[in-house]
Order: sequence, then C-alpha cells, then structure tokens
Amino acid sequence: MIIAVDGPAASGKGTIAKALARHYHLPHLDTGLLYRAVAATVMRLELDPTSEADAVAACDFDELTLADPVLRDDETGQVASIVSAHPLVRAALMQRQKRFAHQDGGAVLDGRDIGTVIAPDAQAKLFVRATPTIRAQRRHTELKSRGSDVSYDQVLADIRARDERDSSRSTAPLVPAADAVLLDTSFLSIEAAVAKAVALVEVRREA
Ligand code: C5P
Repeated sequence: MIIAVDGPAASGKGTIAKALARHYHLPHLDTGLLYRAVAATVMRLELDPTSEADAVAACDFDELTLADPVLRDDETGQVASIVSAHPLVRAALMQRQKRFAHQDGGAVLDGRDIGTVIAPDAQAKLFVRATPTIRAQRRHTELKSRGSDVSYDQVLADIRARDERDSSRSTAPLVPAADAVLLDTSFLSIEAAVAKAVALVEVRREA
C-alpha cells in the first residue's frame, strides 16, 4: 500500500507520516529533506537559488547531507521552497521518489506533490492542514527548543511566504489531489491526529 501525505509546513504531516509508517510497518520518506539537501548544498557552495542551473547542479548532493542538522533550519526551508519551484530540480529528484513509493510492499511518503505527481496511484492520500497561526506557533516552539531566538512574527511571515511560493508555482504546486481526504490538525493533539489519520487510511484500505 502506498500512503501519500501532503500538506504545508508545520501542518503535522511529517509526524503523521512517521506514525502511519510505524503503524503499517512501511518504510517512510520525508521528501522535503531532498529539497532541503539541495538548498543546503546551494548555500554551502554559495550558488544562487533563483538560478535554475545553479539549483540543478546542487541536486547531485552528497548523501551525507541528508543527515546534516542544518537541513532543519528555517533558512534552509525558505531556500528549499525557492529551489523546489524550478521544474528541472523537481525532475532531477522525481525518479528517486517514485522508486521509493513503488517499492515492493509499499511505502509512506510525505511532501507537497506525493498524491498529485509522485504517486497519483496511492491507495490512501491525506492532505494535512492547519491554520497559519497555529503552524507558526508550533514551528516557533520547535525552533526555540533548538536554541533559536527567532520571533513568532518572523516565523509566521516565513510560513506565509513559503505557503505562497509553494502554492503559486506552476510545476507541482501545493494543492490537494482530487481524491485526497483533508485532515485539519489545528485543534487536535498529536495522538488524536494520528488516530484520525489511521481511521482515514483504514477507510481507503477497505474501499
Ligand atoms: O516539508 P518541508 O518543509 O521540509 O519542505 C521544504 C520545502 O521543500 C517546501 O517548502 C517545498 O517548497 C519543498 N517541497 C516540495 N515538494 C515536496 C516536499 C518539499 O516542493 N514533495
């Protein structure tokens, strides 16, 4: 079974995807990490993220980059949303994601375009969302716990900017697949959100 979990930053999609992978004993891929690795490589090599050629050159990143803590930084997320708008960057990362999704036994992937582009054939597609202010609160708490002194207002502005870029790009924009079920986590605890996600996947599994 392929489970696609899409949604904006800090919606809870990563936590839900990991929990679904554990529940169904499936491998999990956080596809945002791939775009973050491209972004981190662009930054390290002092390339221009708005240049498609520069960003494509960074797609050949060192695999060790995927474990670099710099990937979790807010700035890396912002640059990731710039490089990910280039069609040739998306094309360069596509086969790797499609292969992961279609491995024997199935997989859980989370990102922005899993249900629409990477695995339109997924049996279960969730689109996870939450209000921008709640997502900013979550991200702010997370960044503070990692020692960052970024303000809440800055985090909210960054989330809105990233939503705008991810939703308005012409290639693989952040939109729910027509057959995705919406899961709003704004007022749900992690446990409640995961329980709801499992229940929604069960409905699709039995269909
Ligand atoms: O999910 P995460 O916040 O780590 O993703 C970082 C950025 O990578 C997103 O803002 C988005 O621009 C891009 N991304 C994407 N498609 C995906 C996953 C992430 O465009 N499947």
